[in-house]
Amino acid sequence: MKKYVFPGSFDPITLGHQDIIERALPLCDSLIIAVGENNDKKYMFSLQERIDFITNTFNNEPKISVDSYNGLTVNFCVKHKATAILRGLRNPADFEFEKNIAQVNGRLSGIDTVFLLTAADHSYISSGIVREIMSHNGDYYSLVPKAVKK
Ligand code: ADP
Repeated sequence: MKKYVFPGSFDPITLGHQDIIERALPLCDSLIIAVGENNDKKYMFSLQERIDFITNTFNNEPKISVDSYNGLTVNFCVKHKATAILRGLRNPADFEFEKNIAQVNGRLSGIDTVFLLTAADHSYISSGIVREIMSHNGDYYSLVPKAVKK
């Protein structure tokens, strides 16, 4: 059984995340979207809001479950017997950052990371840009799933 974990802040989930998730589904038997809660990080949306946006976006998809965690991603993955970690890549900066993390995670847990490249029309979307648009009352609707509301 292939069990993927897609960890992230999802503050909030965007069409970029949604695209990675939907394209990963045929590759695995189940997918846990793991919403990180880091006490040192300031979020725009509460943990519950971030979880609700995701749950409402994928409520008809039986392979997907949504959970939250704090601490090391690999500890969550080992606890849930994940067979792979899923991450998305938008650009070379993502690659440089993700490469080290994936190698350390592999070393710590033996769990490999599967990378999917962003779809070209989503490569410029990030949660940070969405938050910036939201905080200036801009039109963010074309960048996020319908469930996301400011
Ligand atoms: P983190 O704080 O862990 O980076 P994010 O929620 O920002 O959490 O991102 C989670 C994952 O989604 C990362 O692998 C990131 O590269 C990927 N991702 C974010 N935006 C996009 C996008 N537009 N296209 C593809 N992947 C994306």
